[in-house]
Amino acid sequence: MPSIPASPPDSARRPRLLFTDLDGSLLDHHGYGWAPARPWLARLQELGVPVIPVTSKTRSEIVPLRHELGIEDAPFIAENGALAGLPPAWCHARLDRGSAADGLVIRTLGVDIGFIRQRLAVWRSRLGVGFTTMSEMTLDDLVAFTGLSEPQARLARLREGSEPLLWEDDEVGLEAFRAGLKGDGLRLMRGGRFWHVTGDCHKGSAVGWLIERFEALRGQRPLTLGLGDGPNDIPMLETVDQAVVIRGCHGLAVSPRQPALYRSRATGPDGWAEGVAHWWGRGDRRPAPAVTHVSSDGARRATA
Ligand SMILES: [Mg+2]
Repeated sequence: MPSIPASPPDSARRPRLLFTDLDGSLLDHHGYGWAPARPWLARLQELGVPVIPVTSKTRSEIVPLRHELGIEDAPFIAENGALAGLPPAWCHARLDRGSAADGLVIRTLGVDIGFIRQRLAVWRSRLGVGFTTMSEMTLDDLVAFTGLSEPQARLARLREGSEPLLWEDDEVGLEAFRAGLKGDGLRLMRGGRFWHVTGDCHKGSAVGWLIERFEALRGQRPLTLGLGDGPNDIPMLETVDQAVVIRGCHGLAVSPRQPALYRSRATGPDGWAEGVAHWWGRGDRRPAPAVTHVSSDGARRATA
């Protein structure tokens, strides 16, 4: 077991942010349930600690989910870091203009999906490699492969800044494909089910961006915890102060360079609750209740 870094005396009062992967982490890999995480979600909400989803899911999938999970006050990162959704308390008056009907400001951190799809077509014909993108799968195939319901699968296909795909060729082809995409400024990442093609961004760059945003608004460095189960979570787990690798259901190695690392014994939301309890459940590491700041314009600021 890794040694636990010494906590500064004020660590209990330092604002905290929790960043979490969804599929295979907060949500069960097979059934997408999260009952075992419920007590911790309620407690973190009571303490004012934002639970921030960092996921390969689309904005359209996350919006209803954050309502169900009761985390609508927190921002989110969608499509593996390609975009961030900011609720009003996380917006910067000068930098973030305009908001969607649901009150969220969406910031694009990667490239447009049109460019990605265009380059995928080019590399498929130039290299003669085989793969099927999520947008090419039939709805029935997507439902069968992911276990999502049909309405959920429709939302999963509404991509804005990344394209998931199933690789159907060999390792040599994969490396040539990766190199070709790299020359276009695109990145190929492995998730729990799919490979994902995005712009020059990943979960770690997006999490770093949100931490900076928090500091700019609050003037305080937060204590950050990250949880994930897939290789695409590694950059996020290397960006936060404390990390949890949740035991995966995919058999892929997840080894972030992170001294403050805990590996859960349980999978999915059970492992998630186990990991949060490891870092924040003990008496000396427990978060203190948040102080809600009210700014001069009367707006409630992010609480942590
Ligand atoms: Mg996952």
